[in-house]
Amino acid sequence: MRIEVDTAIIGGGVSGLCAAHYLAQAKGRDSIVLLEASDLPGGTTRTSAEDGYLLDWGPNGFLNREPKTLQWVDDLGISGKLLAANEAAARRFILKNDRLMEILPPPRFLATPLLSLAGRVRLCCEPLIRQKANDDPETIWDFAARRIGREAADMMVGPMVSGVFGGDAHQLSLAHCFPRMAAMEREFGSLFKALLAKKRENSAASPVGPSGVLTTFQEGIGFLPTHAASTLGDRVLTNASVTSVSRANGAFRIHVEDGGEVMSRSVVMAAPAFAAARLLSSMDDALAASLDSIAYAGIAVVCTAFSREAVGHDMNGFGYLVPRNQGKRARGCLWTSSIFPHQAPAGKVLLRTMIGGFTDPGALRLSDSELADIAAHEVHPLLSISGEPELMRIFRHERGIPQYLLHHGECLDAIQNAEKRWPGLVFAGNAYRGVGLNDCVLSAHRAVDALLK
Ligand SMILES: Cc1cc2nc3c(=O)[nH]c(=O)nc-3n(C[C@H](O)[C@H](O)[C@H](O)COP(=O)(O)OP(=O)(O)OC[C@H]3O[C@@H](n4cnc5c(N)ncnc54)[C@H](O)[C@@H]3O)c2cc1C
Repeated sequence: MRIEVDTAIIGGGVSGLCAAHYLAQAKGRDSIVLLEASDLPGGTTRTSAEDGYLLDWGPNGFLNREPKTLQWVDDLGISGKLLAANEAAARRFILKNDRLMEILPPPRFLATPLLSLAGRVRLCCEPLIRQKANDDPETIWDFAARRIGREAADMMVGPMVSGVFGGDAHQLSLAHCFPRMAAMEREFGSLFKALLAKKRENSAASPVGPSGVLTTFQEGIGFLPTHAASTLGDRVLTNASVTSVSRANGAFRIHVEDGGEVMSRSVVMAAPAFAAARLLSSMDDALAASLDSIAYAGIAVVCTAFSREAVGHDMNGFGYLVPRNQGKRARGCLWTSSIFPHQAPAGKVLLRTMIGGFTDPGALRLSDSELADIAAHEVHPLLSISGEPELMRIFRHERGIPQYLLHHGECLDAIQNAEKRWPGLVFAGNAYRGVGLNDCVLSAHRAVDALLK
């Protein structure tokens, strides 16, 4: 295979597919080729259908608050297939002392046993806490402890960070993981005041969960990349693992594992940072080192299904997260059949238990039966589940979610400088400016805009 194109996109996850879509729209389908290493497009975003269940391998949806994601879905002609999370699944829980405690919205929050009385009083002092006086990088935990107290940082913020990043609040950079939260302190001087302002703007805004409603498709979230790839037809090459990228005669020369070669004027690098590092190492050592310094967390998703009668809990909620100090290996459990009832047959309960994360790298080396045992010992008693699951599938993401550590700003600077050094090379993906599917779509737009300039 020898192909010459205007732009090659490397990596066929959501980021690469979105970039390919908009480049094809701007310059014509024949001007691009997307090279994907595995046999199917989608990266971590996949859904399999089995016995009436829809099993999401990685993400289970996106928050419907980003216009560019909704626009892409609309452009793909699949808006009619969107399904929002069941409103009845709004309640969220945190595990404390082997009990599930509901996160209550204010003012009921003041009565929550999730925090001690001292912890609640400290949290209420938030508006009185002065703003940080310098620009030194700060971890999410340090920020939270400073503003709302150590107990709330441990019991509320830590689990949320673990839920989104599979990460450790003590190590992740606030400015890069939650830039809006950092901005709230800068603009309003207090998170409470910022939330009040947000509430005034939008009375539906909730301080309990994220803004926006978790949304999927009738066929599961994996439908998005599958359908996006199908609209690009033969411009998407699967089983096309890129082994290196170099410069030759004013173009990029891309080697593919099967011996093929693609020559392109520009490249959208949408493979994970550690893979991009390997591909670019012969071209730019320093860039490769910066990309390689972006750490990843591994996470295993254990999907289990039961008949409704085997589950004693009312399952009235979204699921729960687990603070690190509770000594568990399951980071949390999502009640999929409550969130998206169409993902399980009637009369069945489908759960997704997340095991691993940045502070538990050994979890990914556990066997399937060991992972199943963790789910059974840590989750079943909480939900009063009796008996064995009727179905169990485990999806492993060895290096699933990038971690924006305190040096992340330096990585971004180095990558941005490399984009200047190598005109035509741009980066998209979850490794840089946000890990959610919405962030991936924004990263694709950023890459495409840079090339179209
Ligand atoms: C368990 C889990 C749960 C999540 N839950 C949510 C959620 O509910 N909501 C949400 O918004 N986000 C969620 N996320 C995050 C979100 O799924 C990811 O950030 C997003 O899917 C990343 O897309 P991407 O295209 O940037 O990268 P990836 O999906 O990693 O895609 C990169 C692609 O590059 C390919 N590739 C790698 N090397 C090469 C090579 N040498 N040549 C060619 N191709 C290559 C890979 O095969 C892969 O297909 C979750 C992530 C995980 C792991």
